[in-house]
Amino acid sequence: MSLLVTGTIGIDTVHTPHAKAEGVLGGSCAYFAAAASVQTPVRVVAAVGGDWPAAHRALLEGFPRICLQGLEHRPSSRTFAWGGRYLENMNERETLFTELGVLEEAGPRVPQAYSDSRFIFLANSHPVEQARLLAHFPKRRLAVMDTMDLWINIAHPELLALMKQVDGIVVNDAEAALLTGVRNAISAGRRILDLGPRFVIIKKGEHGCVLVHREGVATLPAYPAESHHVIDPTGAGDSFAGGMMAHLAGNDRTDLPSLQQAIGWGTVTASFTLESFSLDRLARLTSAELEERMESFRRAARVG
Ligand code: AMP
Repeated sequence: MSLLVTGTIGIDTVHTPHAKAEGVLGGSCAYFAAAASVQTPVRVVAAVGGDWPAAHRALLEGFPRICLQGLEHRPSSRTFAWGGRYLENMNERETLFTELGVLEEAGPRVPQAYSDSRFIFLANSHPVEQARLLAHFPKRRLAVMDTMDLWINIAHPELLALMKQVDGIVVNDAEAALLTGVRNAISAGRRILDLGPRFVIIKKGEHGCVLVHREGVATLPAYPAESHHVIDPTGAGDSFAGGMMAHLAGNDRTDLPSLQQAIGWGTVTASFTLESFSLDRLARLTSAELEERMESFRRAARVG
């Protein structure tokens, strides 16, 4: 087993224009792991507090290919918690609150048995913590990181230092613009390559994504989801990364053509996440369903 993710396990409260989910399982690491596990086994490194609901543990333990040996339970701490509200278009959201909880303490311990991990995903967390964790994996073949506006704003120098140590970075278009001052995704992507990574994937929500790589550029539309299927987009970005990294780790590939295929798997995996609140849809997702939707996406996105 060689895919590993580190990031947050969160207690989320999500408002959409049509419904609200209070205190549900979320967090960058939870979404990534659930999404990746449909294709390949995945190891988790994260921490939760004494307030972490038993039902959340049961939901996460229900994914047979997620290894939770690296999930640290801290009885006297509080779990990371996040609240967000989506605007009418379901594409933009505002953060209502972020309670860092365990994120303000020392980071989680990495089990010795995980030190041979080769595909590492640093899901959203403080860049200093992402860098500390990255150092535990000297045998890595591919390291990819995520980040967001909060860290770009409050930990910019630390973020730039981390970007020099990873192979790839996954951000959305607004984050790419904030990071570079450039709105055009391809141009912003090129600036990001100057900061260190070999490739950058810029997600554009319902408008798909672009992959800017030192050896070329690839672009992909989003999966054509109808509005009544979009219940809650939370975690779609992390699920995209999970589906993408699982494809690379499962095939032990890191080249540009494999990355181009991998963003297709990421896109299709994420299309399931937004069909429910929390991890509910991913918990029911089978690899046969994923492959079937991948096939229909191949037909929809074909060019020429
Ligand atoms: P996404 O919709 O893919 O951007 O991810 C949403 C998830 O990220 C939610 O489940 C949150 O718990 C988690 N999250 C929100 N803010 C942060 C943050 N500052 N650091 C790490 N994870 C976060």
